[in-house]
Amino acid sequence: MPERADVCIIGGGVVGCSIAYHLARISRLKIVLLEQGHLGGGSTGRSAGGVRRQFLTEIHIQLSIESVKIFQTFREETGWDPDFRETGYLFLLSTEEERTRFRSAVELQRHLGVSVEVLPPAEIQRLAPCLRVDDLLEGTYTAGDGYASPFQVVWGYAERAADLGVDIRERCEVTGVRVAGGRIQAVESRKGTIATPVVVNAAGPYAGCVGEMVGVEVPVTPWRRQLFVTAPFPDLARELPVTIDVHRNWYFRREEGGALIPAPTDRQPSFNTAVDWGIVPEVYAAGVHRLPALAHAEVVRGWAGLYDISPDNHPILGESEVPGFYLACGFSGHGFMHGPVTGKLMAELIVNGRTTGIDIGPLSPRRFHEGNLIQEPITMHGVVNSDNQ
Ligand SMILES: Cc1cc2nc3c(=O)[nH]c(=O)nc-3n(C[C@H](O)[C@H](O)[C@H](O)COP(=O)(O)OP(=O)(O)OC[C@H]3O[C@@H](n4cnc5c(N)ncnc54)[C@H](O)[C@@H]3O)c2cc1C
Repeated sequence: MPERADVCIIGGGVVGCSIAYHLARISRLKIVLLEQGHLGGGSTGRSAGGVRRQFLTEIHIQLSIESVKIFQTFREETGWDPDFRETGYLFLLSTEEERTRFRSAVELQRHLGVSVEVLPPAEIQRLAPCLRVDDLLEGTYTAGDGYASPFQVVWGYAERAADLGVDIRERCEVTGVRVAGGRIQAVESRKGTIATPVVVNAAGPYAGCVGEMVGVEVPVTPWRRQLFVTAPFPDLARELPVTIDVHRNWYFRREEGGALIPAPTDRQPSFNTAVDWGIVPEVYAAGVHRLPALAHAEVVRGWAGLYDISPDNHPILGESEVPGFYLACGFSGHGFMHGPVTGKLMAELIVNGRTTGIDIGPLSPRRFHEGNLIQEPITMHGVVNSDNQ
């Protein structure tokens, strides 16, 4: 007789751990979480930890508003400090075209209750004296956004989920999912088979591979994204907003007194997570214009992870065409910030068949079959969606 569970969650990143915790909070289901490596060892642990409410679509902004609230109360809820630094998020705009697009975004954000300011260059300079501002038209700034610690969040959820009875298994790769009569029957792992009627695919950039095990097409593609950190330098002696230069498709934030800076996302999808040190000069070239002091700061470490891109750059949340097979993936570079609220919403969907607070209907996997991809009201060349945090 195989072991039995009511729900098997595949993936121990922020999304899987948040779902496990929230499911255990609102139900008495027997829940098992299977992680092929270590908790947080996938994209979550490699993310920049950015948390912002400046987005272009209503659903993204709603997810962010709720997630910011969760980050602010995470310590009380889990006992773990997420190290949420509310440094603010600053988008820098250089052209009339960017200004027009962002003004529309600001309208939508304000309409949904986000307090976002439009700053002239002189105020940007006051906020971040180390920036070059003479070629800027303006910036958009949200004070309560910032960044948090991915591992603290994963472990906060995982530890509390385990306290509530969730069975968390690391180094336990899922190798297959049995389906019979159109329904989920069992999950096969390197450490045995678990009979279950419900599987949650929270496998991040590997969500497509898990979908194949069930015979469901999950349109998530992996794209390498690299981050580098410089040695400390005086301009970054104090916290600054996470700063995004829209025109140059570049951003930075402070990391241990140095700058955390990205390389451009690869041009082709792949599962490659090797660091390409040869790209460092390109990374500097993009940044020195905006942050001149960068020219004298040496890169001391770097890493690569995978973005989990969906066709419309929005997450895929809901039950698939195979009953009992739920998807929580495709966060398109925003899964760290949207993972906490996703856990709550997915738990409600699985237990009650509906969510409270946010309607995730538009994020259903059905949208790809029905041709209802989420349209951005204003386009930003994909820059703000995928390439910038
Ligand atoms: C460089 C970089 C910077 C980023 N910066 C930000 C940011 O600033 N803000 C933000 O919100 N997001 C950011 N992201 C995106 C964010 O990291 C992801 O969207 C988020 O971590 C997705 O979480 P997840 O739990 O779905 O995936 P993951 O953290 O990847 O977790 C999925 C887990 O599933 C496991 N798994 C896969 N297949 C199997 C299997 N067959 N059996 C068992 N386990 C399996 C994997 O080992 C993995 O641990 C960034 C990503 C990268 C790469």
